[in-house]
Formats: sequence, structure tokens, C-alpha cells
Amino acid sequence: MTTTTLSLEDVLTRYEPVLGLEVHVELGTRTKMFCGCPTTFGAEPNTQVCPVCLGLPGSLPVANRAAVEATIRIGLALNCQIATWCRFARKNYFYPDMPKNYQISQYDEPLCFDGWLDVEVEPGRTVRVGIERVHLEEDTGKTQHIGGATGRIHGATESLVDYNRAGIPLVEIVTKPITGTGALAPAVARAYVTTLRDVIRALGVSDVRMEQGSLRCDVNTSLHPVGATEWGTRTETKNVNSLRSVERAVRSEILRQAAVLDAGGQVIQETRHFHENTGETSPGRSKETATDYRYFPEPDLVPLAPDPAWVEKLRAELPEMPAVRRRRLAAAWKLSDADMQAIVNAGALDLIEATVAAGAAPEAARKWWLGELSRVANEQGVELSELPVTPTHVAELQTLVDSGRLNDRLARVVLEGVLAGEGTPEQVMAARGLEVVSDLGALEAAVDEAIAANADAAEKVRGGKVAAAGVLVGAVMKATRGQADAKKVRELILRKLGVEG
Ligand code: ZN
Ligand code: MN
Repeated sequence: MTTTTLSLEDVLTRYEPVLGLEVHVELGTRTKMFCGCPTTFGAEPNTQVCPVCLGLPGSLPVANRAAVEATIRIGLALNCQIATWCRFARKNYFYPDMPKNYQISQYDEPLCFDGWLDVEVEPGRTVRVGIERVHLEEDTGKTQHIGGATGRIHGATESLVDYNRAGIPLVEIVTKPITGTGALAPAVARAYVTTLRDVIRALGVSDVRMEQGSLRCDVNTSLHPVGATEWGTRTETKNVNSLRSVERAVRSEILRQAAVLDAGGQVIQETRHFHENTGETSPGRSKETATDYRYFPEPDLVPLAPDPAWVEKLRAELPEMPAVRRRRLAAAWKLSDADMQAIVNAGALDLIEATVAAGAAPEAARKWWLGELSRVANEQGVELSELPVTPTHVAELQTLVDSGRLNDRLARVVLEGVLAGEGTPEQVMAARGLEVVSDLGALEAAVDEAIAANADAAEKVRGGKVAAAGVLVGAVMKATRGQADAKKVRELILRKLGVEG
């Protein structure tokens, strides 16, 4: 069935979407959730395992305090209630990458519940997303299918399991149903995951990298006719791996379900897979209900009962939230919402803030990071923060420009040297002999030469055609290999030719 003939705007005049987002975040703790194994990403397969995370008989789990603390901090940042007493639960199912045959999770007693997150969907339009629960569980291992063309099990000759990831602490954040968004639904979904990622990053509890799987998103979508009191059947699109895909998955699922309903059909409750290449979803397994997992309280672990004084201490120590920080910095730097958005999108906010802290004016700091340095980062296919240049370097470079020792062109050459690992801007200047010629005698000599060599232009300037001075300025800049202050050169030329600029 094709969905390309329907437009989202048209569909959403007839149907109302309801969204629900489930986000899994791998915590950046040093050790796993229930054992002391390290959690380093990318280690040799099955080198970070022990009897506990391999589920060997007789091994017993112990909860990781740092993971509990990180989860409470996430809950507090999302305006949740924190349970005074709760338990872990066993979620029973078979999967080869889950050696115990159950996942230790939380069921009816989540650590954090009933919160909200304000999400700015577009400038001036904020949607409050309700948070149902934030609970703590453990990650599974990873299965690799070898021999097939797609990396999927179909066509593979063998499957290998890596248990390094098994038992890494995982926080699951579940929204309440998101209603009333209409045609904004795809944008709301994307803005929610973006905002949530920024909050978790600000807390410093995870690196939240979607491409490495430390933030994974499942998107629940349903449609019901506008005005209907009962919601439609929902589908769950699994493991959507980028912010853009979150938006596309919602859009494509709304269009698909609308086509089914328009044709008089019924949406089937199932999981679906999102395909990056086509932007469409395909059916996965028909969805289990919670009772299929035969949840029961985990008998090997004591209940969690966070001391209220500890929780209040964690609340008091929460960092400034990203939205608050952006508003504060935009005001201090006199930036529009769009300017601030551009900085955030470029991943430059921390860098610019540090550059300003190192002494640069906000406008200059912004110019370097969003201009020359963004261009270089783009060219090299790296993040700005991965470039071998620090905010201190950039502030120093700008000081050299402000003091007249470098002009814009020389500053860019010096920056090249810094990026090539030749040292600080001062060191690059010294090593490469780059500095604006400030010796007035040398400059005057260069100006005299230029006037002598370009008599025509000089005559025009004397006659009042000041624009002709450009030729002379160019000649001096060439003679000094760009190391003169063009403004000063122009002043000198005009004075010598009897024209006051
Ligand atoms: Zn272990
Ligand atoms: Mn989960």
C-alpha cells in the first residue's frame, strides 16, 4: 500500500495523532549495573564480563549506587516524584543476548514517576510533555550476524554474541501520551528527544550518542478520527537511531496508518522497524502485553529506599538546565533566538562560552567558531570540539587582531598553524614570522614604491578619484606579503597624495 499520495496536513484534518516516546539511555558509569565489570565502549568482545553479568549459577547482583544516583538526578531534572521505596523486577523472556533469560528492570514501582519536560518546538511555541516514569534496568548484550549482506539474521551463516554490553545500566524514560499536537506531531517528537538529550548531557550522566546507541528511541503512534473519544491502536517503531529519523518515523507511521484507516482497515498492534533509506516502517513482531513477561519482584536484590535528605541534596546540586542557560547567554550576548539556535545546532555553545570566559568578545568568539572553524570541521568531517584548537587559542588570536598585531588574513593563517599543531597563536606567529608590519618607516617606503610604480592610479587619486587608491593599497599589501594593516596603508597613501580620507 502506498502512502505517498497523502499529505500530513490533509491527514491531520481528519485524524488526531497520539504519540508516546520511550527513550533508553545508557549511563556513563564506570562499572555495570549489578557487578564490577567495566563499561568501556568498543572493547574486544566478551572481555568485560563476569559470572554476574553472564548469569552463571550462584552469582548474585548488587545495585550500583552511582547508577541509582544518576537515575534520581534524571528524574529530578524531569520534575518527577522520587519513590521513597521501590523494587527491581524480573522481566522474563528469551533472547540469545540476554544470558539470564530475564532482564532486571522495574515494573510497577519505578524509581521516578509523574514528571514533565517543557519542549520548545519552534521559537515561541513550547509544548509540555508529561513524563510517566523513569526507571532503571540493565542493557542486553549484542548479537552480530555474520555472512549476510545486510548484517541482519536473514542470509547470515552464523551469529556471534558479545556480552560486554550485558548489564550496563540503562535508564528508561517513558512519556505520558502526547495529544493535541496535530500536524506538529513529528516536530514535537524530534524536539522532545533533542531536549531530553540536552538535559541528560547537562547532567553529565551519559554521553547520549544516538549513533553509538547510548540513546535509543522507540516511538509509539496511533490515530483516531477527530472528535472520537477512544484512541486508535498504536504501533511501536523500535530503535530509531537519529533525531531526524524520529521525526521521519512519526510522519511515515501517521501516513501509513491513515491509509489503512481510510481504506476501512484496522491498524495492527505490533512493533515496526524504521528504514533510514526509504523513510518507511515495516512490520516486526506482534506486540506482547506486559503480562507475557511474567514480571515479579527481583528476589536477589534488596528494595531501593533513597534517603529523602540525599534526594534533596541531589536536587539542590542539579546544574542549570540547557533551556535556562541558553536564555541567559542569549540575553548576555544580545543574540536572537535564531542566532542562538545556530550556535546550538553547530555544537558551539560550550566552546563560545569558554572563549568568552577566556577574554574574547561574544561577537568575535561566535564569528570564529561559526565561521572559519565550522568550515574546517565540516571539511574534516569532525565535531568542532574535536578540532585541535582550544577556546583559549581563539581568545588569544582575537586579542592579537584587536591589538593590531594581526589582520584578518594573517589571523586565518595563524589559525591554520594552530590547527596543524604548531602551538599557540603567539608561537605560530613567531615561528612563521607573521605579524602586521608596524614599522612606519618600512610602510612609508612600501607606499612610496607603490605610488612610483602606479603613477596613473596616483594621479587619479590626486584628482579626487579616491576609489583609485584601492590599486595602491593592493600593491602595498602584495609587497608586504599581506602583513600590513590595510586601513593604515590607505591612510598613508591618501596623506601622501594630499587627499585627507
Ligand atoms: Zn560482570
Ligand atoms: Mn526497557
